[in-house]
Amino acid sequence: MSTNIADNLMRVNQRIQDASAACNRDHNDIHLLAVSKTKPVSDVLLAYENGQRDFGENYVQEGVKKIQELAEFSDIVWHFIGPLQSNKSKFIAEYFDWMHSLDRFKIAKRLNDQRSAHQSPLNICIQVNIDNEETKAGVSEEDVEALIEQIQGLSRITCRGLMTIPKASDSKMQQRQSLEKMQDLFKRCQARFPDLDTLSMGMSNDLDLAIACGSTMVRVGTDIFGKRAQAPTKTKERHDF
Ligand SMILES: *Cc1c(COP(=O)(O)O)cnc(C)c1O
Repeated sequence: MSTNIADNLMRVNQRIQDASAACNRDHNDIHLLAVSKTKPVSDVLLAYENGQRDFGENYVQEGVKKIQELAEFSDIVWHFIGPLQSNKSKFIAEYFDWMHSLDRFKIAKRLNDQRSAHQSPLNICIQVNIDNEETKAGVSEEDVEALIEQIQGLSRITCRGLMTIPKASDSKMQQRQSLEKMQDLFKRCQARFPDLDTLSMGMSNDLDLAIACGSTMVRVGTDIFGKRAQAPTKTKERHDF
């Protein structure tokens, strides 16, 4: 994989079009979120110059810094997709447009209280631990609807849908099983909460399959920006903030 961001972006958009066509979906219904974590602002700008507008960040401090540095590009939509400690929620409420990793009411309440009345409501996806992995964040399948119900009354956040990071697997069959479970769950939730319009799933390795299983937003890092160096450690982030 080359690290020519313009070419990579074109290839990923082509994959989205091909995968959509293969399952008779309109490719305009699938949004590409470019995951720029650990990558420099100059890479974000290169993608921006090639038409990309949605960017995903995993680390609060790094994300806020990029948002501040790119403040003049007001049509960039910033998504927080990483795990969140509740003491940093105010940075998400203040700087981001979307938050994909909500997994408990306490954080929802804090984000709602911290989101200013001058901003549009923060878009939220609930992270689902679809394969019940012990080490992974997210609510279990059975608890999703109750959490959506609970956050309905919060006016400064809008629940848009569900997000998942399925269990890593080389087996297409195993991947498809997890993605289909999410598709079923999303349909059940939509039946009860018709305003839900976002199923955030699919990354560099499984975006094609995710689109076949109903994803409306794929989150792609490596295949756009190239391989990442090691992520900053939690300890470092805590001390810097
Ligand atoms: C890093 C990350 C991605 C992008 O993964 P790639 O395999 O690099 O495409 C997507 N979603 C989340 C939540 C991530 O942390």
